[in-house]
Amino acid sequence: MRAGRFVLMMRAFGFHAHGGLDNLQLVEVETPEPAAGEVRIRVAAAALNRLDLFVVKGWRGLDLPKPHIGGSDGAGVVDAVGEGVTDFVVGDRVVVYGSLSCGACADCARGEVSLCATHRVFGEHSRGALAEQAVVPAANLLKVPDDFPLENAAAASLTFLTAWRMLVTRARLRAGERVLVVGSAGGVNLAAIQIAQLAGAADVHVVATQPQKAVHARRFGASHVYASDAAWHKEALAATGGRGFDVVVDNVGEATWGKSLRAVARGGRIVTVGGTTGYGPSAEINQIMWKQIDILGSTMGTRAEFETVMALVFAGRLEAIVDSVFPLSDGAKAYERLASGQAVGKVIVRPT
Ligand SMILES: [Zn+2]
Repeated sequence: MRAGRFVLMMRAFGFHAHGGLDNLQLVEVETPEPAAGEVRIRVAAAALNRLDLFVVKGWRGLDLPKPHIGGSDGAGVVDAVGEGVTDFVVGDRVVVYGSLSCGACADCARGEVSLCATHRVFGEHSRGALAEQAVVPAANLLKVPDDFPLENAAAASLTFLTAWRMLVTRARLRAGERVLVVGSAGGVNLAAIQIAQLAGAADVHVVATQPQKAVHARRFGASHVYASDAAWHKEALAATGGRGFDVVVDNVGEATWGKSLRAVARGGRIVTVGGTTGYGPSAEINQIMWKQIDILGSTMGTRAEFETVMALVFAGRLEAIVDSVFPLSDGAKAYERLASGQAVGKVIVRPT
């Protein structure tokens, strides 16, 4: 304790050691003070991402100060500003843009922060939004319109940013193209279906891991839904008259990659932001070469992409689905809900 002042404490949800979800617990930590250029927010809503599960488990070389507090998506109300912050005042409603970077290299200078050698993610490499208060660089906040729910802003931010860069910037989806989204219920895929529609895709087909998860895919305009246990690539190819898809979104990885290579059209693109079933599928270079397929990786996105996609979210043209909402004290249930694979849309935690 520092002499001469009270130390304010806050409640957060996190862990002291990597491992299973049973390591997660309510923790008390010192309330963070914003340094120069930083802003502190009182967190109204945090959203969980698969990333949060990976961080609890940990990986070789990951060395985080403990207790670690996750949550890369957050929205709330500004309650303190650090020196030199002029864009925000106490009381502003804000949502977090989760990419942290050096701010000084050539990639940062052109806005490509996710290509920065020191690119880190709020809540992954730093303490995140699963706390009553969180400190964020002012450059990582965006104002939320007064009439827009903070919960929906938190639910949208990382998934819509990721899906936007993946489809619009990386895959360069154009009007009239045909899109296949493999795996329907995750936040990124539900966002991708909507963005494909907004971009004027001719049609959007979806491979659903469970039939009940296809409801939102259809609601957002998917014209065809295939069961993932079937020979879906054959069905999907037949539905396109054998031509295949201009853009295939595959974030499932090992379990589906071979079929995605077959479903993509000659000259088409496969784009990925992850591999939930594993990172090591067979590459099948003969398919890639003969069909002249572009394999594209994508992650997070730029501040400009964030502003573009969030403006569409705030205008109601894109919509984040909220699966469930838990108080901070039930943080363990929130993680379990995400880990169960049953969630359709985002799992939200309300710290305050
Ligand atoms: Zn940089």
